[in-house]
Amino acid sequence: KLDGRGTFRFFEPAMDERMQARRRLELDMRQALARREFQLHYQPQLNLETDRLVGCEALIRWQHPERGTVPPGDFIPLAEEIGLIVPIGEWVIRQACRDAAAWPAPVSVAVNVSPAQFKSDRLVETVISALSNADLPAGRLEIEITEGVLLQENERTLHTLYRLRELGVRVSMDDFGTGYSSLSYLRSFPFDKIKIDRSFVHDMAKRPDGEAIIRAIAGLGRSLGMTTVAEGVETEDQMRRIRAEGCTEVQGYLVSRPLPVADLVGLLAGR
Ligand code: C2E
Ligand code: MG
Ligand code: MG
Ligand code: MG
Repeated sequence: KLDGRGTFRFFEPAMDERMQARRRLELDMRQALARREFQLHYQPQLNLETDRLVGCEALIRWQHPERGTVPPGDFIPLAEEIGLIVPIGEWVIRQACRDAAAWPAPVSVAVNVSPAQFKSDRLVETVISALSNADLPAGRLEIEITEGVLLQENERTLHTLYRLRELGVRVSMDDFGTGYSSLSYLRSFPFDKIKIDRSFVHDMAKRPDGEAIIRAIAGLGRSLGMTTVAEGVETEDQMRRIRAEGCTEVQGYLVSRPLPVADLVGLLAGR
């Protein structure tokens, strides 16, 4: 179809191989939850005003028996496509709440939630039950969404976001600035946090306008009463610039890579 109408191509063995690989991944993924192959790693977020770790983002990893660690970019899109993201996402929320309940009280946990999880009716009930089972106050859970969630902005999505907010859960806009209309999405819901996409941080020192964009988003956050987090901070130079431009928090390899929960607990205790 990519070649346009009226053209045809013979079925190539390579296409068949790709489809088989995808099918295998799908079958493996359907078993992975029951086989406990998923893990959460956590990446800390540093508040620049207090110099304290204030939260951690939960990032899923798949420990595949043959392939080793599979990063989320390699399976989350397929999980979304075939609906598996709903049970996987539910496991993430429950596990993240359980883990966070053992951390020092001010440290919160952030969970990424996909558009498909908003389409299912279960999200709010899952959050309520995960918080209560873990005995975690709602104020220590944060939900990160991307523009994709608001793309088909409908009553139900907004209703869900407001119900989460009423519970006391915080809501962040992830990967801010990468989509088509980030600004208009900011208007559709009063987010608690803006996470500035790491591509802007990466470009900061390399392009003359790079730092101006960070400055503008930090200012926007201040005006709207939203926290701003710079993602993907890797160098001291980036950290210095981010500080100077007035972002509230940083997250990136410079502070720490995402860590297995046991290592994170050590890090939190050390700070
Ligand atoms: P994200 O939510 O924007 O998460 C941040 C990503 O940036 C993570 O990649 C993290 O490892 C990476 N990162 C953090 N600091 C740095 C840095 O200094 N430099 C660079 N180059 N990268 C950095 P990861 O873990 O591969 O996750 C990729 C994406 O997969 C996430 O992007 C998120 O959209 C999705 N994802 C991860 N876990 C989940 C999950 O449990 N559920 C859902 N629905 N999506 C998830
Ligand atoms: Mg995120
Ligand atoms: Mg992000
Ligand atoms: Mg992302």
